[in-house]
Amino acid sequence: ASTLKIENLHVSIEGKEILKGLNLEINGGEIHAVMGPNGTGKSTLASAIMGHPKYEITEGSVFLDNEDVLEMEVDERAKAGLFLAMQYPSEVSGVTNADFLRSAINARREEGDEISLMKFIKKLDKKMAELDMGEEFAQRYLNEGFSGGEKKRNEILQLMMLEPKIAVLDEIDSGLDIDALKVVSKGVNAMRSDDFGCLIITHYQRLLNYITPDKVHVMMQGRIVKSGGAELAQRLESEGYDWIKQELGIKD
Ligand code: ADP
Ligand code: MG
Ligand code: MG
Repeated sequence: ASTLKIENLHVSIEGKEILKGLNLEINGGEIHAVMGPNGTGKSTLASAIMGHPKYEITEGSVFLDNEDVLEMEVDERAKAGLFLAMQYPSEVSGVTNADFLRSAINARREEGDEISLMKFIKKLDKKMAELDMGEEFAQRYLNEGFSGGEKKRNEILQLMMLEPKIAVLDEIDSGLDIDALKVVSKGVNAMRSDDFGCLIITHYQRLLNYITPDKVHVMMQGRIVKSGGAELAQRLESEGYDWIKQELGIKD
């Protein structure tokens, strides 16, 4: 199993420090949730792991096993086994979903070890059926005219096809109706194995009714300020964040 280890991460955007010493370790087999009020830096964390050029790492480290993630280009991060839903282009004209998935899989493999067309199609059919996706989805152009729910479903299809070591899913639940939410959750739950670790970033507890996290972290003011089990998410749902602020003496 793999480990993503984030230590003392400081990240700035346009000279303003957003992450202020964040620590987090995710092992294969674990699903972690990061929750927190709006504007605390949750998406900044995802973007920094992804390697978005706008986010400047000023201190700290991110390692995937023995590899220094911060030294890698974005495509190298994917090849190393990281999956970030956001790294995928929002719309690509003239590239079908199936073409995109196949080249994304092959980009992570060594030359000469590309997935065969037969194997690819078999796997794609299987995963699409698991996600209740119609066959026509494979031949549609990537994200073109996709509804919000279809885009999320498609991100989960990408996740299931690519089988990364560690995935970071930022607000995968936003704008989903209950049926789409169930399908997305089913996909993430189907990924559960010792070879897969997952960081779910969410503002709402709702998603965690369907995906039970092993650990829940609360992020405030650019740091993880509290960690616990699934019960922590439930307490946040019923009581909000004020009690944590009081506990820690945080004033806003
Ligand atoms: P969250 O995901 O927890 O809501 P974000 O990481 O999106 O928080 O934002 C954290 C802070 O960084 C906010 O104050 C936001 O305004 C700021 N910020 C985020 N992205 C940018 C950006 N691209 N340019 C300038 N400021 C940004
Ligand atoms: Mg936000
Ligand atoms: Mg966000």
